[in-house]
Amino acid sequence: MVISHSSSGVGESAYNTFSSRYARVELPRYRMPENSIPKEAAYQMITDELMLDGNPRLDLASFVTTWMEPECDKLIMDSINKNYVDMDEYPVTTELQNRCVNMIAHLFNAPINEDEKAIGVSTVGSSEAIMLAGLAFKRKWANQRKELGKPYDKPNIVTGANVQVCWEKFARYFEVELKEVKLTEGYYVMDPLKAVEMVDENTICVAAILGSTLTGEYEDVKLLNSLLVEKNNETGWNVPIHVDAASGGFIAPFLHPELEWDFRLPLVKSINVSGHKYGLVYPGVGWVVWRSKDDLPEELIFHINYLGTDQPTFTLNFSKGASQIIAQYYQMIRLGFEDTSTSWRIARQMQPC
Ligand SMILES: *Cc1c(COP(=O)(O)O)cnc(C)c1O
Repeated sequence: MVISHSSSGVGESAYNTFSSRYARVELPRYRMPENSIPKEAAYQMITDELMLDGNPRLDLASFVTTWMEPECDKLIMDSINKNYVDMDEYPVTTELQNRCVNMIAHLFNAPINEDEKAIGVSTVGSSEAIMLAGLAFKRKWANQRKELGKPYDKPNIVTGANVQVCWEKFARYFEVELKEVKLTEGYYVMDPLKAVEMVDENTICVAAILGSTLTGEYEDVKLLNSLLVEKNNETGWNVPIHVDAASGGFIAPFLHPELEWDFRLPLVKSINVSGHKYGLVYPGVGWVVWRSKDDLPEELIFHINYLGTDQPTFTLNFSKGASQIIAQYYQMIRLGFEDTSTSWRIARQMQPC
């Protein structure tokens, strides 16, 4: 049995934290304190220290959602203690994730029949989604090279120099050379012509951004697709496209439905989107969907069975919270296509420029 001593003396009121000894000493910084303190004091002291943080509602820096409806806040608090990975314990949560994956895949025009299941997963954000998509491309490319008896030790990826830092992270962590198309004066996104020029037999994919981090501008994925189709035909290569739709994935289908950037283009094999940006959920949730089963090499899927039945997973992490996934489902069914479209149209009108 563990015996712990609270340092609060008997009879010391926990409600007047500011006149108590807890307000007189600095909160511990480097070592865990020997004794406990009353919960009210811990709450008050931490809350006060956090006042020096910025106000999330005024934070426009990372395009991340900072407000949700109280009903959804309640759903989130109700599920804050659910571990997403335990699919046997929480099968309904898994089902809600799968519904989101299917809705997003349909939103991005994945070529799946009504009764077919889409291929994709929830992630902590677009960064994890991009790591997973990148790994799938790298493995698929290596497998093709092995079959041809060719070396597979120098993979590269072609992007614009405007890519978000997570692509550089992917390249460094997973040992893929990042070939960046330089930006030019007055043109701040990837030039598809130059990108396709940089493609070679070791290119695992070209990554286009829908909603460049620097300016929000969409890259011309349609032109990239047609140029790359030509190049693949000439060379016999099989270089695919990934679309980093972290910010644009939940905007373009509603505001620019005619714009072809998604699975309507045959070389687009995977797409990521951040649920916590314009998916309107608090951080952190993201999504990655693949065009078809063939685009996600089977050997990357881990089958876990020690929580019960066989569970296929493809994630970098094991445990994570379930509440953001539930919140994403809430936003999907609460707003629907029409209200989301209307919201973005109104938001666009309110833009100052
Ligand atoms: C925000 C962003 C990312 C990273 O996404 P997280 O969800 O923050 O991990 C990647 N690419 C682009 C284009 C982004 O805007």
